Formats: sequence, C-alpha cells, structure tokens
Amino acid sequence: MGKDLEKVLITNDQIQDRLAVLAEEIADEYEGKDVLLVGVLKGAIMVMADLMRHLRFSAPVDWMAVSSYGSGTKSSGVVRILKDLDTDITGKHVLIVEDIVDSGLTLSWIRSNLESRNPASVEICTLLRKPEAAKVEIDCTWVGFDIPNEFVVGYGLDYAEAYRGLKDIGTLARHVYS
Ligand code: 5GP
Repeated sequence: MGKDLEKVLITNDQIQDRLAVLAEEIADEYEGKDVLLVGVLKGAIMVMADLMRHLRFSAPVDWMAVSSYGSGTKSSGVVRILKDLDTDITGKHVLIVEDIVDSGLTLSWIRSNLESRNPASVEICTLLRKPEAAKVEIDCTWVGFDIPNEFVVGYGLDYAEAYRGLKDIGTLARHVYS
C-alpha cells in the first residue's frame, strides 16, 4: 500500500488534536439541545467515531448514504439516496458530519434535502475542505482542515474502496488512477 501513496498530508495526531477543538465548539453549541449527528457513508465513519469520542455529551447518530464518485475521482453532481435516515428529524438540530467537501455539490444537495424535512436547524462539520468548495454556496460551520486540490485517501476516504483503514490522510500517487 505504501508505494501507492505520494505523501502524508495530515497525521492521525493532527486529526485528533483538531477534532478535540471542534468537539468543544460543537458541544458549546448543542449540549442540552435535541441534536442528531448525521454521518454520510462511507467516508465519514472515522471522523464520526472520533468526533463522538471527543464530545463531552452523548448525541444520537444516524447515517445517510448517497451516490458520489463511484471509482473515479471527479464528482458527477448526480446525487441519489442509497440509504436514507432512520430518524424523523422534524424539530431536531441536525449536524451533518462529513469527511470531505470538494465541489460541494453532494453536500449542498444533502443539506437542502434535510432542510425540506422541517428540522430546527442544519449545520455542517467537515474534516476536510478543498478550495473549490469556496466556489459554491456551501456554508460549513466547522472545518477541520483546508487542503490543496489533490485527491486524498485514508481515515475513511477511499479510492475504489481501498485505503479507508489508513490512520493518516495522504495523497495518492498519480499512477494509481491515471
Ligand atoms: P463533492 O460533491 O463535494 O465534489 O464530493 C463529495 C464526495 O466526493 C465526498 O464525500 C467524497 O466521498 C468524495 N471525494 C471528494 N474529494 C475526494 C478526495 O480527495 N478523496 C476521496 N477519497 N474522496 C473524495
């Protein structure tokens, strides 16, 4: 697996330190409120697990799965729900927990879909954000790291379902997908 990675961009220690800070801010906002953490499968599994461990209060979790890249590396902009929430979010404060915002197309679609279900609020926490995300209307309240416009894997992020288990986040060597 090592030869497929070009370089480590963010180490697991850096991720944990940043999530601890975000978890404090998130707890300040939501502690005592009827909040639901919504993870977007599958990439957000690691960030959700670690964020929950850093939170000083216990919040319920639900998951959505939508179609995104398949095994390519460019967003199609076509979003389809593969797995919907089990929870009725009417009147709840929804915090979407995402791994990465690239073009922002997927997340803005998810956000407006959830907003149409009459929640009390919908906010976004994403571990990673690429510069392109700044070009679309997508307001992320909590961002772990802004990263360059490169394809990254590890810590939940895959390429063709591989590399999700890497503890760190790194860039994939071009020869893997070109
Ligand atoms: P967007 O619609 O914001 O362009 O893409 C969102 C989804 O594309 C993310 O949830 C993620 O699944 C995937 N994605 C975007 N950039 C990357 C990347 O650099 N690496 C990986 N592994 N997936 C990415």
